[in-house]
Amino acid sequence: MDPDTASIKAKLELELADVLQKSQRLIKHLRNEDRTLPKDWSEMAQFVENDEVLEALEVRSRDRIDALRLAIRRIDEGVYTRCTDCGTTIASERLETLPTTHVCVDCAA
Ligand SMILES: [Zn+2]
Repeated sequence: MDPDTASIKAKLELELADVLQKSQRLIKHLRNEDRTLPKDWSEMAQFVENDEVLEALEVRSRDRIDALRLAIRRIDEGVYTRCTDCGTTIASERLETLPTTHVCVDCAA
């Protein structure tokens, strides 16, 4: 049976909008130049650490955005169920559980 690409696409678009919004908030925070620099070293260490956490999150959400966009494009192009590695049809259950996947279970292993 074919996966319900219309409802999968709707879900992907919803998540994309959500991730984009969160990521924009993060970028805004990262670029906030009004922040006053901590006065002592221990505060400074904490300050830098927080920034690294934020940056890591930013990279992660960017990866997610790419994956979501790719999946939506694959649906639009009608190649959503085709494995990009071997060309076989990706199982519907796999796509429903992992909607951003573009490889079949064998190629993912
Ligand atoms: Zn494959």
